[in-house]
Amino acid sequence: MVDFRFTSQQDAFRQEVRGFLKEALPPDWVGSDNAIDEESFAYGRQFLQKLAPKRWIAPAWPQEYGGAGLSLWEQVVYNEEMAYHRAPLINAPAVGYLGPTIMIYGSEEQKAQHIGGITSGEVIWCQGYSEPGAGSDLASLQTRAVQDGDDFIINGQKIWTSQAHYADWMFLLARTDPDVPKHKGISYFLLDMKSPGIAVRPLINLTGAGGFNEVFFDNVRVPRSGLLGELNRGWYMATTTLDFERSNLSTSAGMKRSLEELVAFCAETRSNGQRLIDKATVKHRVAELWIEINVTRLLAYRVVTMQERSLVPNYEASIVKVLNSEGNQRLARAGIQILGLYGQLAPDSPYTRLCGRFERSYMTSTGSTIAAGTSEIQRNIIASRGLGLPRY
Ligand SMILES: Cc1cc2nc3c(=O)[nH]c(=O)nc-3n(C[C@H](O)[C@H](O)[C@H](O)COP(=O)(O)OP(=O)(O)OC[C@H]3O[C@@H](n4cnc5c(N)ncnc54)[C@H](O)[C@@H]3O)c2cc1C
Repeated sequence: MVDFRFTSQQDAFRQEVRGFLKEALPPDWVGSDNAIDEESFAYGRQFLQKLAPKRWIAPAWPQEYGGAGLSLWEQVVYNEEMAYHRAPLINAPAVGYLGPTIMIYGSEEQKAQHIGGITSGEVIWCQGYSEPGAGSDLASLQTRAVQDGDDFIINGQKIWTSQAHYADWMFLLARTDPDVPKHKGISYFLLDMKSPGIAVRPLINLTGAGGFNEVFFDNVRVPRSGLLGELNRGWYMATTTLDFERSNLSTSAGMKRSLEELVAFCAETRSNGQRLIDKATVKHRVAELWIEINVTRLLAYRVVTMQERSLVPNYEASIVKVLNSEGNQRLARAGIQILGLYGQLAPDSPYTRLCGRFERSYMTSTGSTIAAGTSEIQRNIIASRGLGLPRY
């Protein structure tokens, strides 16, 4: 029998997280744009300092690495509550996928140097994968790292690097051997963003905010201790990082909250004498979204059951990634449509509805089907790995 219930211990933990968030977040908290502007980033950093003493920055990491040693299911509960309460989450690349990659491939020195900074909330990381000519076809990246004595010298450019303007360190991929097939000549580096020769130029996205950046490297030196794993084996570690990245397990909890708020709004708002929620079109639309959110949640749980057995989810994580990102867009579209013209007003308008959340998410969710691999790439993975269809 498949039983999706949480244990009483896990339910008690959920209450504990809720109680903590009630205390830790301001009473008028409406949510965070996760580091989009300087003020929210600064608040995100402060918030990490509230999580750190509880070892809740990375609750499921082993205690020796500064985690709380919680089970994966407790991590799920925690992630769901954080997402539902829209808690700030500013070091997700480090906690979600770099840290686990270092734990698998890093030397003892690298673990000692980097893991503690993540769990103390003091070191913020960004991910230097994409380049102007290498996104979906990441292995064609051109940024070069050339060995020079005990160092590597890096030249090239990254793009779309989220949080690079705030980050202390970057994990990046660079070509170390240009004369072998492209997947076989890439290495994985850990780079101090204060190193001389790095220039960061913000890119303004369609919300008018500077979420991601271009990063330029001009003869940047990385010591050999910054090479993660073996030289020229970076591609294989990079895909592990991506599998962790796509196993985002909590998005549906954030969507649930937004849908609940939309439903409550429709129940108390009348149009032409009728409550919005009593209109069949609205009722069916929200019911459809409710189905989708629940399906996504259950498929995310399937990914957890694989992680529990030490399997690295692959096309299974891609399925969840497609549902999360495309579902977010469908929810945003529904919100905008149901709220009508009010739905299009920005959060600072006096006439905005539901804090302008749907206007915001309508724009920010555009990137979610591109980031961490586009929906087309996820479908390629699902088709080849899941269905066994030939790769083109
Ligand atoms: C909000 C956001 C944050 C990001 N943050 C980061 C970050 O922190 N670090 C980082 O390194 N990158 C980051 N990225 C970049 C992201 O990883 C890339 O944008 C993504 O991999 C797509 O690459 P591209 O933009 O070069 O598009 P391209 O690869 O040029 O793709 C263009 C179009 O062609 C389609 N396409 C390409 N190849 C195929 C194929 N084989 N089959 C079918 N269709 C295909 C794509 O789906 C897409 O629709 C971020 C992106 C966004 C939107």
